[in-house]
Amino acid sequence: MTPEFNLIAKYFTRTTPQADLGVGDDAALLRVAEGYQLAISADMLVVGTHFFVDCAPYLIGWKSLAVNISDMAAMGATPKWATLALALPKVDEAWLAEFSRGFFACADAFNVDLIGGDTTRGPLTISVQIMGEVPTGSALRRDGAKAGDEIWVSGNLGDAALALAALQNKVSIIDADLSTLRQSLEQPQARVSLGLALRGIASAAIDISDGLLADLGHILERSNLSAELQFEHVPRSAVVSTYLQDEALAAMVLSGGDDYELCFTAPAGAHDKVLKIGQDLSLKLNCIGQTKSHASAKPRVAVYDAKQQLIQIKAAGYDHFA
Ligand code: ADP
Ligand code: MG
Repeated sequence: MTPEFNLIAKYFTRTTPQADLGVGDDAALLRVAEGYQLAISADMLVVGTHFFVDCAPYLIGWKSLAVNISDMAAMGATPKWATLALALPKVDEAWLAEFSRGFFACADAFNVDLIGGDTTRGPLTISVQIMGEVPTGSALRRDGAKAGDEIWVSGNLGDAALALAALQNKVSIIDADLSTLRQSLEQPQARVSLGLALRGIASAAIDISDGLLADLGHILERSNLSAELQFEHVPRSAVVSTYLQDEALAAMVLSGGDDYELCFTAPAGAHDKVLKIGQDLSLKLNCIGQTKSHASAKPRVAVYDAKQQLIQIKAAGYDHFA
């Protein structure tokens, strides 16, 4: 066997019970259940852009799959299969062993089969494609929100962005707090169970990767709506509230990225059903505002503080090309 095939056999070949054929041939073979649609998405992680060069390879492996699974969650799809395209500057077996351990820990946690990929030499880049199933017509699309829908967010926002700011020495955080924040940044949990429970209830959904305002903005644009948010109701952790106040707090919670929580809309009449889903999943779900019909000259999102004063927001979210 050539070194490349050895690596694939050693680190990336596992059983694939959900596929007819997995790693090892020219292509994998899959079957989508009758009455279901195939949901497909890809997300790439590049060293220096999406993670630090010295980041623990286990965590890079976890996160490269988790951010993809998060896209399935946001569609209300069940993740089932993934491919992995890897560019590696050199063969570093210790790195690969840890990377693969983290990748498969996430794959096992969400019941995903690695069914193929590609391995080549180049600047460290990890490109994952995820595939899943959703009953035909019931995906949670971005374009389904209606005026008057409530806007909801799962979990807390801002932890991941604050961890990143601390790792970049922009803020100083005591070790005990930093280790809880880093969990959100480095080992995000995809909200798959929530996405599945929201089928037939949510009118639109998105996962928050680039910041609440930027990602909610995508729902609003695709649905041609505006929104009013109450900042007091936007969920944040006690740690974030301890370290940040006023504008800095608003910026971190509203525009910080990498949380991988879900933002979704649902009719006001479904309010109690949504609360029940949160209780059943032991997951915090907060109603943060409402959608409105959109008047073209106005900004899409208005955020109000506790005194009903408009909060001025500078950057809406992370943009790789800004
Ligand atoms: P080909 O030359 O047909 O593209 P490759 O030599 O690239 O085939 O890959 C051989 C097999 O190993 C294929 O089934 C491919 O899907 C799989 N594979 C390659 N790299 C990876 C990887 N990083 N993770 C999972 N499977 C991989
Ligand atoms: Mg190939």
